[in-house]
Amino acid sequence: MSWFKGSKKEKWFYDNIRGFCCGLEIRKVLYSKKSKFQKIQILQSKSWGCVLTLDTTIQTTERDEFIYHEMISHVPLFLHPNPKNVLIIGGGDGGVLREVLKHEIKKATLVEIDKDVIEVSKKYLKKIHCNSFYNKKAEVIVGDGIDFVTKYKNAFDIIIIDSTDPVGAAEDLFSDNFYKDAIAALKTGGILVTQSGAIFAQWGEFSKTLKKMKKFFKYVSPYLTVVPTYPSSFWSFTIASKNLDFEKQPMLRIEKKYNLLKKKLKFYSPKIHQGAFVIPQFIVENMGK
Ligand code: SAM
Repeated sequence: MSWFKGSKKEKWFYDNIRGFCCGLEIRKVLYSKKSKFQKIQILQSKSWGCVLTLDTTIQTTERDEFIYHEMISHVPLFLHPNPKNVLIIGGGDGGVLREVLKHEIKKATLVEIDKDVIEVSKKYLKKIHCNSFYNKKAEVIVGDGIDFVTKYKNAFDIIIIDSTDPVGAAEDLFSDNFYKDAIAALKTGGILVTQSGAIFAQWGEFSKTLKKMKKFFKYVSPYLTVVPTYPSSFWSFTIASKNLDFEKQPMLRIEKKYNLLKKKLKFYSPKIHQGAFVIPQFIVENMGK
């Protein structure tokens, strides 16, 4: 990441990775401080609203966050026949929690390692969390998700990993041990979904995650979407289950559930859901390589 001072007035923030760069024109830095885990910044951008960056990597912007948050949440929640207990690991901006709470669930538990991310988001990212932190069905825990799952057996219908990339505190959220512990924490028919990186800028992360998850779960599939402010935009998630065959989940049931929720959704729909699992040939041919 680097700052570039354009004309006297202009200020740009750049998030670059492996030769690819996304630049946002910035009006004001609203918050910038190092926490115990990472550098946290809230930037008021010219045309993407407020932006959260962690260690100078864009995590979410007010303008396009709904795409990512709806796709990581609703695909597993609509696939599962009757989700009641949902665990979110990471997600300290509150966007995934907001989406999960749109469903008739019993409880959503959010485990975020960095309390400062939650506090800063509560203050500056109201348009993203929409007060989901205060919902009576939500339990917000400051803690390490890797450690948290070891304490639960047969407890969750869905585990959503909305973490930073697989470095630092998040690295072991993509590890064999974590997947083993997560499987034990899932109920029968339970689903785990993780953000698995950008197809072009993070092919290695995507491919490695898919390969690893296939070692532990019978049913594993990537699904794709586009997040404009993420590196090279073409973004992947990887979904897995020990015993729920995603391809056998009736679209009729998904459409029925969707009709009850559709007024609250801006991106996700049953057609978008189906399309997300259509994986282009150039990816299929190289998956796991
Ligand atoms: N949507 C963003 C993305 O895909 O890059 C992620 C946003 S969310 C803010 C990421 C959160 O994961 C961060 O706040 C970070 O502190 C948290 N995190 C990283 N490792 C973690 C761990 N081991 N347990 C719990 N939270 C973790």
